[in-house]
Amino acid sequence: MRELHLKRQAEARIPTNLGEFNMITYADTSEDRMPDIAMVADGFDAQQPVTLRIHSECMTGDVFGSKRCDCGEQLQTALQITAAQGGVVIYLRQEGRGIGLIHKLKAYNLQDTGLNTIDANTHLGFDADARQYDAAIFILRDLGIQSVRLLTNNPDKVLALQRAGIEVVERMPILIAPQAESRNYLKTKADLMGHLMGEVL
Ligand SMILES: [Zn+2]
Repeated sequence: MRELHLKRQAEARIPTNLGEFNMITYADTSEDRMPDIAMVADGFDAQQPVTLRIHSECMTGDVFGSKRCDCGEQLQTALQITAAQGGVVIYLRQEGRGIGLIHKLKAYNLQDTGLNTIDANTHLGFDADARQYDAAIFILRDLGIQSVRLLTNNPDKVLALQRAGIEVVERMPILIAPQAESRNYLKTKADLMGHLMGEVL
């Protein structure tokens, strides 16, 4: 676990076509070029269970619409739901399950030779999932959130929050229909990483 000295840095009103958000940046110093982010929707009330998505950065999916994964669509869906419900999207800068964009692209090349996403990461010398959620816990505490409706297919995220003393009153699945290019990736997450993908596969 990395040592956390996070502080709330700058924040600003960000109107979007889905609704209005307050974007709050968190980093050790204001010089950090990759702060973690909380997108707090209009109508947010920390006294109620808060609709929450914890999303790990996926440059290829979030920004460029890659079909290798469903991250971009999950993020859009999460922003839509949180905008409507006064919820929060926490955006963690842990690209490619924490291995970074360069290694992620190398792992993609290995997958194109037939390894699945977990084998590909392990092959490169990384844990299958190097993500840490301590930054998210810090942000939840900073926002005064004690109770959430969590948008996730990943039971590990529910456990991580519960272990930190955050009440999870509901797990709301985000199910995106797979495309030809993402089907194997989604199947690996369901079969080998315990993600609950419902009937979409
Ligand atoms: Zn992705």
